[in-house]
Amino acid sequence: MEDTFEAKGKRKKLVADLRKKGIFDEEVLRAIDTVPRHLFMDPAFLSHAYVDKAFPISSGQTISQPYTVAVQTSLLRVKKRDKILEIGTGSGYQAAILAQMGAKVYTIERFRELFLKAQIILTSLGYSADFFYGDGYVGKPQYGPFDGILITAAAPLIPEALLSQLKIGGRLVVPVGTSDSQVMTVVERTGPESYEHTEHGNFIFVPMLKGTVNGR
Ligand code: SAH
Repeated sequence: MEDTFEAKGKRKKLVADLRKKGIFDEEVLRAIDTVPRHLFMDPAFLSHAYVDKAFPISSGQTISQPYTVAVQTSLLRVKKRDKILEIGTGSGYQAAILAQMGAKVYTIERFRELFLKAQIILTSLGYSADFFYGDGYVGKPQYGPFDGILITAAAPLIPEALLSQLKIGGRLVVPVGTSDSQVMTVVERTGPESYEHTEHGNFIFVPMLKGTVNGR
């Protein structure tokens, strides 16, 4: 599978749609314009790759809606060479967006199948990231502290263990709430023991669950 002229055209239209929906971070829009989302999709949904919707991937999970990826990535305020921890690798699309923006990406997935698949696709596209099969609730303290932590699954509460893995000035972006609806929450570490919370609208994600699934 390759990038195509047609897919490039559809991405331009998607970026225009995202601008209309209020996404203004040019670096984020450039990354969405560049990363071939169709290569991360289940073949059954290939023709929908540039529709602004979430779609099923394997293991009963989803590739996030492009608008959601754009909001979360904008809220992270990614700068080149930032160390970013992503919880919920899924298809690997969000990790590719972060890598495209020049971040050093660490990403954790609890489904072994997805963890394996995402590495193949990112490597074939020439993106580098550190992939981990494990439970994101624990984070990756040995690789921290991070400039940003991005959770791409719905957490019932803010996962406290992750807060201490942020640099001072670092930001955790996490959808917090019930399975029906979550509030996009940013927690900024403002000092060794101080954190500031802000809220950024309602979203729906697959749940953040404990433990791992080997699936064989
Ligand atoms: N960022 C992904 C979105 C995938 S959906 C993408 O761009 O495609 C969310 C993912 O979070 C799912 O793959 C799910 O298995 C994973 N997940 C849920 N709870 C987790 C946890 N505790 N640790 C790691 N991954 C988790």
